Amino acid sequence: MLRVLIVEDEPELRDNLMIGLSAHGFMVRGVGDGAAMDDALAEAAADLIVLDLGLPGEDGLEIAQRLRGRQQLGVIMVTARGMTRECIEGLESGADSYLVKPVDITLLAAALRNLGQRLAQPATTRWRLNRVASRLQSPHGSVIALTAQECSLLALLFAHLGNVVTRSAIFTALGQPDELCSNSRLEVLISRLRSKAGKVDPDHPLPLRARHNMGYVFLAEGDDQ
Ligand code: CA
Repeated sequence: MLRVLIVEDEPELRDNLMIGLSAHGFMVRGVGDGAAMDDALAEAAADLIVLDLGLPGEDGLEIAQRLRGRQQLGVIMVTARGMTRECIEGLESGADSYLVKPVDITLLAAALRNLGQRLAQPATTRWRLNRVASRLQSPHGSVIALTAQECSLLALLFAHLGNVVTRSAIFTALGQPDELCSNSRLEVLISRLRSKAGKVDPDHPLPLRARHNMGYVFLAEGDDQ
């Protein structure tokens, strides 16, 4: 049974949500602000949070922001304002989705169930390379747009996951057989790729390692699609 914690400061609305979600088969608790939410989470874990945007003290955006790191906790933000900008801010701050008040309880229950199912799936550790779209997807699901050269380099490394690919093999794959001028270019290429990946997903640094005097290795599981 999915455990839902409702953070809503209007008692009547909170009660209605609690009753409605209980009837849909969730295990529900309700609190009135961020501090009470912290106490409730310390007392017992929750799978999903229904978070009101406008709250006394810390608002929903701030709360979503600090909940962001908890990967096993889904957050659905509920906003009375229905303004696109705030909804987008809510999603950027870490909410998984949002609903506008008045909330249809059946819709909320369906959204919670979907999110709960998604969170229940084991976290993947695989990196995914999509050569057609020139994209690399981190295990976290973040997408890194690749240049043609970055894509060729990764395709080669993905073909030899866990094994060192020599510089000369890389130069050939990149169409740069002249090693003297290619060495520094390759280093620039790799350092840009690392920093790009780091910006998109700071939690999963690109597992691309240099092997001194030999070449490079991609040290992770991966799929080349
Ligand atoms: Ca409110």
